[in-house]
Amino acid sequence: MAMADFARPRGTYDIKPSETPAWQAVEDLARTLFSHYHFEEMRTPIFEHTEVFERGVGDTSDIVQKEMYTFVTRGEKSVTLRPEGTAGVVRAFVENKLYGGPLPAKLWYLGPMFRYEAPQAGRNRQFHQYGVEVIGSSDPRVDAEVIELGARFLLEAGVADARLELNSVGCPVCRAAHRAALIAHLAPIRGSLCADCQGRFEKNPLRILDCKKDRDRPEVKSSPRITEYLCADCQTQYSAVKHNLDVLGVSYVEDSTLVRGLDYYTQTTFEFVDDRIGAKSTLLAGGRYNGLVEQLGGPDMPGIGFAGGVERLLLARAVQEEEEGAAKIDAYIVTFGSDLTIFDASLRVLSLLRKAGVTADLDYAGRGVKAQMKTADRLGARVAVLLGDEEVANGAVTLRDLMTKEQNQVSEDACVEAVLALLSR
Ligand SMILES: [Zn+2]
Ligand SMILES: [Zn+2]
Repeated sequence: MAMADFARPRGTYDIKPSETPAWQAVEDLARTLFSHYHFEEMRTPIFEHTEVFERGVGDTSDIVQKEMYTFVTRGEKSVTLRPEGTAGVVRAFVENKLYGGPLPAKLWYLGPMFRYEAPQAGRNRQFHQYGVEVIGSSDPRVDAEVIELGARFLLEAGVADARLELNSVGCPVCRAAHRAALIAHLAPIRGSLCADCQGRFEKNPLRILDCKKDRDRPEVKSSPRITEYLCADCQTQYSAVKHNLDVLGVSYVEDSTLVRGLDYYTQTTFEFVDDRIGAKSTLLAGGRYNGLVEQLGGPDMPGIGFAGGVERLLLARAVQEEEEGAAKIDAYIVTFGSDLTIFDASLRVLSLLRKAGVTADLDYAGRGVKAQMKTADRLGARVAVLLGDEEVANGAVTLRDLMTKEQNQVSEDACVEAVLALLSR
């Protein structure tokens, strides 16, 4: 009873000393890589006036409707723990009149965010995000630079094969035409959509394409695509972004259903996805938000950025490391029995192999033959060197090619040469 009172709140966790080095590595990478791309760090408060998120994230978004930690202060002002980074950074950009300085402003941040969500693997109520924002340029080279930086960040953080999905969600002009077509197309099933989608049907029907409950329905899947309605400006921008990504050697998959869960996006949207950590799990995502600066009281000025979760990143990296196994080895020595003569022979062979430049190891835990063979597999060994009574009596070893499963006995003296021959096959 008393213990429960002192337990940490649901959806939070402690980062223990054994775990902090991984966090520090991500923080160091953000600091060095982002400044390498000439971004400067912006630190904003953990809480803001609630209006910043209502205006900045959008009042039809799930975040604002359901997930914010909002409370009233003694001064009777409504404040909210930040659920994401962009709104606060843009608010700070406007409030500190950074638009009067050199443009575009290139800012990055990293820190804790808060959302009242059902806790699950990789999803916490206090979580951490890193992100970048470029404010004051609509040049499509900026879009490509931001996306390339995202790709590079994931790669250097140790996630090798996240898939990049790309789309354009257009501007208010082309979205109006698309919205009308979308509303007409979905009107017959309006009554059977989830409550959220019914609520935002008129205001933001685009979000229905992104709704977890409705997006897989055939009527929703066959909806008119925003890319078919892009105005000339948005089409030119989208083509140029793709061209610039090609120039930078960044590969992408176009996905016309990618609309992102936030209201502020315009034109370019993108996500880096890793399917290994759960169904369609987004590691890093972002897009353009050309109306946001003005909505938060600043001048009419374009912007683009991305954000990624540190917890997801560490999870993806752990999965990948597990898949790749520990450091690979060439040969693994498997001993049958614990006779001293067998052990002596195993040490001799191990030493000979290593002297010849073969990466080799053996089991010191006294495990059975089956477990030793399993370890050989897990370590990616090409050759198992088997040593038992028979081999020792013959002054020999049995080499098992773990790829072809062939095995043959060779004398201890010829062992190194035979292993090298197998490895060069
Ligand atoms: Zn447009
Ligand atoms: Zn829905």
